[in-house]
Amino acid sequence: MSDHLAGGYDLAVFDLDGVVFLIDKPIPGAAEAVERLRADGTAVAYATNNASRRAGEVAALLTGMGVSAAPAEVLTSAGAAAALIAEHVPAGSPVLVVGAEALRGEVRDAGLTPVESAGDNPVAVVQGYGPEVGWKVLAEAALAIRAGATWYATNTDRTLPSPRGPLPGNGSLVAVIRTALDREPDVVVGKPQPALFRTAASLAGAERPLAIGDRLDTDIQGAVTAGMDSLLVLTGVSGPADLLSAPAERRPTFVAADLSGLFRPADQARVPATEVDGWHLTHDGDRATLSGSGDAVDALRLLCGVTWNGVPATAVKAGSDAATGVLRDWGL
Ligand SMILES: [Mg+2]
Repeated sequence: MSDHLAGGYDLAVFDLDGVVFLIDKPIPGAAEAVERLRADGTAVAYATNNASRRAGEVAALLTGMGVSAAPAEVLTSAGAAAALIAEHVPAGSPVLVVGAEALRGEVRDAGLTPVESAGDNPVAVVQGYGPEVGWKVLAEAALAIRAGATWYATNTDRTLPSPRGPLPGNGSLVAVIRTALDREPDVVVGKPQPALFRTAASLAGAERPLAIGDRLDTDIQGAVTAGMDSLLVLTGVSGPADLLSAPAERRPTFVAADLSGLFRPADQARVPATEVDGWHLTHDGDRATLSGSGDAVDALRLLCGVTWNGVPATAVKAGSDAATGVLRDWGL
């Protein structure tokens, strides 16, 4: 076993948006990281809450960006949701689909009948992100749920990352029906529920899987719930200030600026850290002062040791010019 971080694991389960790519552009270093894992004998899987593409399409998209992926390595919340519904209702049952064509295809392939109207008496409503989802189908879904259909959400991500900033995700569209009906979905399939990660691990026959994600509230919480170690990369939605104030159920095992952290010593990514190169922390009651200089992620790992034990992130003061710089960069 190697002493680099990835060497301790037999499977790397990647989130996609914010980890491997941003919308349609690969994140620098992602393709190389996947190839190096494969060369080292570490299995690779991709687990995405995005329900707007099918596994084969996701694999083709990744391959087109230079990131190697086979359809069998891809788990989407759309495929998992359709499989789950099919386990609970008779074959051929009508299911109202709120989402993209990919979700409709998964429902059909699971042996169910996709419908568009509450008048078709659907036994279930399945809701996933789709850029064309509008008021009309949301209204049909609300009527069907009120009439007794079971409400499945592929995921409840409030936002999607984009080069222009966060955009409304499926969770924001779920919130429309939640507000209208004053109730929660019956079943949420995607992260932070553990189903995608657990399925990825069992399909790969992995004993020591590592989850890799950019969101504390989905990827990291899902890994914690699944009992898996996790790596937070800072190339997507969650930033340093989010990590400093993360509740216990959203704390990763490791943090790194990007996927190159997989190939550095595990102890240089573990969080929290009690000692790092260059930075010093003095801690007095509910106040802490950061001084010295060095790598910003090292400062972050050190600070988590106090903010995860009750010191508010806003009570951390700078004791050097470099500390002033990192705290300002993190919006503190
Ligand atoms: Mg993501």
